[in-house]
Amino acid sequence: TKILVIGSGGREHAIGWKFAEDFKQKQQSVEIFFAPGNAGTAQIGTNVALSSIEEMKVFAIENKIDLTFVGPEAELAEGIVDIFQAEGLAIFGPHRAAAQLEASKAFAKDFMAKYGVKTAAYKNFQGSQLAKEYVQTQDFPLVVKASGLAAGKGVIICQNLEEAEQAIDEIMEDKTFGDAGNEVVIEEFLEGFEASILSFFNGKKIVPFISAKDHKKIGEGETGLNTGGMGVIAPNPLFTDEHFRMFEEEIMEPTKCGLIKEGLEFAGVIFFGLMITTKGVYLLEYNLRMGDPETQTTLPLLETDLYEAVTKSINGEDFDLTFKQQHACCVVMVSGGYPGNYEKGYEIRGMENVTCPNFIAGAKLENDQILTTGGRVLNVVGMGNSLDEARAIAYENIKKINFDFEYYRNDIGVI
Ligand code: ATP
Repeated sequence: TKILVIGSGGREHAIGWKFAEDFKQKQQSVEIFFAPGNAGTAQIGTNVALSSIEEMKVFAIENKIDLTFVGPEAELAEGIVDIFQAEGLAIFGPHRAAAQLEASKAFAKDFMAKYGVKTAAYKNFQGSQLAKEYVQTQDFPLVVKASGLAAGKGVIICQNLEEAEQAIDEIMEDKTFGDAGNEVVIEEFLEGFEASILSFFNGKKIVPFISAKDHKKIGEGETGLNTGGMGVIAPNPLFTDEHFRMFEEEIMEPTKCGLIKEGLEFAGVIFFGLMITTKGVYLLEYNLRMGDPETQTTLPLLETDLYEAVTKSINGEDFDLTFKQQHACCVVMVSGGYPGNYEKGYEIRGMENVTCPNFIAGAKLENDQILTTGGRVLNVVGMGNSLDEARAIAYENIKKINFDFEYYRNDIGVI
């Protein structure tokens, strides 16, 4: 079996690792290619430097790839799935039309409203004048969002009218996020705690993962700048069975019905970003790909054979996902300066002593040395029968790893 994984982060290392572990367990051979991959993926497969979707397609045809798994959102929004499917290649991910649910927040909100998916009240605007008139009539805090892809930075929480007008100007007039700011979504501020749920969709049914809790800020106690993610725990200890039931009824099912009614069925990932308030579970956003580092945290708990689940999804067959009755705690090690300009080029030492799953997010191999290249460098995932045990294992192992300018939060999973 030959698998191609698109991407270069810890998420893609974890996806490749899970495939490799499953094939090892069933004593079957597998060859995994990563485009472009990193120092971690090079240890379980072959990194190939492919820079365009066209090159990826040609590679998949020439190498008779059985399955392509797409990590990042950019290629999905560009339509990699449509291009691969036109060649009869098996690929896991949404086609371009469905990828709009992530690439356009305005489109996603209209979809949620149309199909009764529980979400914050909102209005979309294509011009700054009407947007500013609207915010004058609203209560605060209020959330102003660039509609397009802005790498998690296009969401501005405004405490008063002045901040809201300024946010609209920055997004729509100054174009701080480029074309992502051609349209804005202005929505009600929801007060509560967040949870993430990954899921696989086969065009007929959505099968959820266990819940996860992200830690987005650089500083302990959720302080400082936003990052791509400093750590995740799963399951989310605050997310109860009752929350799960509300999620399934008021978000997951109407999403599935909407996708089918709109003719947007696909085989791929749906990531639900949730806000839990005293009034229930709300959907903040869809992502149409695996989360990073939610993937690194949940895949080690997944018992189901990943290749089997994914190929069944692609074939529109029934499938299930089962998870170990355990807890996982993923701590992200970053390089000093991140999420701003960060240090790079330093050797990572002690990896050979780590005894829990660990994934490379940003490092390259050079002359037998692993050198930091990323802001986010490493993901260390402790697993145990309790959250405390999982945390303890993650931090014990992190202490064995050293690189200059390393930084990580000590409070991942502290509730
Ligand atoms: P990411 O790239 O991190 O997934 P994004 O840019 O796609 O983020 P959202 O997930 O919609 O955007 O929002 C980012 C964050 O802003 C959320 O995780 C949440 O903390 C906050 N947020 C978004 N919408 C609201 C809201 N209506 N009320 C309160 N907070 C919100």
